[in-house]
Amino acid sequence: MANFVKQTIALVAHDHMKSALIAWSQDHIEQLKKHELVATGTTGGLIANTLGLKVHCFKSGPMGGDQQIGAMIAERKLDCLIFFWDPLNPAPHDPDVKALLRLCSVWNLPVACNRSTADLIITSPLFASDEYKRDVPDY
Ligand code: PGA
Repeated sequence: MANFVKQTIALVAHDHMKSALIAWSQDHIEQLKKHELVATGTTGGLIANTLGLKVHCFKSGPMGGDQQIGAMIAERKLDCLIFFWDPLNPAPHDPDVKALLRLCSVWNLPVACNRSTADLIITSPLFASDEYKRDVPDY
């Protein structure tokens, strides 16, 4: 029988995508409550204030928050990233966005960049289960 394994999930949304991430978080609030949540500053503040979820907030994304989440990935302290980046507007911190997504590939970290992928990850029976062991590359 599968055992529950608490996950550390990072939530990040660019400005035009924040309402979509809040709606997604609301839809999955019971699941999210069971886990450790971290987020970039503005996203995390909105989720905490709107939904009452406990979220550890890093700096705002453009001020280094993306890189703080990247550091968690490199230190193997993160299990999943929900990252609603904006495909239609340029971001001043585009290099940080790219770096964050790159680290997800480097460390084989589950990352959702849109709602359907986020839905599938969070509802997977293998998510937060000891029946799935993510292969973390040994560099
Ligand atoms: P924010 O950062 O949550 O502080 O707005 C998001 C981002 O742009 O990475």
